Amino acid sequence: MTATQNTAFSDRMAKVKARIAAACARSGRSPEEITLVAVSKTWPLADLESATAAGATDLGENYVQEAVDKITHWQGPAPVWHFIGPLQSNKTRQVAELFDWVHSVDRLKIARRLSEQRPPAKGPLSICIQVNISDDPAKAGVAPADVAGLLADMAGLKNLTVAGLMAIPAVDLTESTLRQQYGELKTLRDTLITTYPDCKALSMGMSGDFELAIECGATHVRVGSALFGQRSYPTEH
Ligand SMILES: *Cc1c(COP(=O)(O)O)cnc(C)c1O
Repeated sequence: MTATQNTAFSDRMAKVKARIAAACARSGRSPEEITLVAVSKTWPLADLESATAAGATDLGENYVQEAVDKITHWQGPAPVWHFIGPLQSNKTRQVAELFDWVHSVDRLKIARRLSEQRPPAKGPLSICIQVNISDDPAKAGVAPADVAGLLADMAGLKNLTVAGLMAIPAVDLTESTLRQQYGELKTLRDTLITTYPDCKALSMGMSGDFELAIECGATHVRVGSALFGQRSYPTEH
């Protein structure tokens, strides 16, 4: 990455952070409550290093093989690595070994494997249960009504912590529907946290809606293109 591109990342990061701060101010929250996960899928390692040099503390990746290549070649202080993409059971081992967070767990089988394959020395893996808040057949995630049961089943898994809930809403929702669905996820989290005090995170909001998500209670926003630019080149996964 050239110096100009580096500056561009820093500029975009500053703008995103200012927008996060403004959304927090509007909703009476503190920016310290929000973790900005810089979604670096498709971008080369050099761009990720520029991102962390510019202050990105948390990076999000979607594709196991691409992420493994980046993480195993990483030099210097490691960021917090978040796996946010669909996860098949034959790929859980590398994710359990290399990541700090997995946002996209929606089956007990995947959670079991992650717990079994997590090296205990690394400490528990933080996971979010992905919830299909829009009841969209095209989207992954468990139905809101099934989350409590799944969490109860996962509670005994010793090498992972169910740290919160994650959602990817349907596209093209009106703003009021989106607010309502994010609000329902927050209500669900607020109920669960009374029994499961670790279940704190609300991973919701991307480049197009992170301010709205923060107003609705997000603790983790997953922002790609607003930080790195448009993902313009095709990938094969
Ligand atoms: C790609 C992706 C993002 C980031 O999307 P942008 O619109 O580029 O911010 C966030 N969350 C998930 C699950 C993604 O796959």
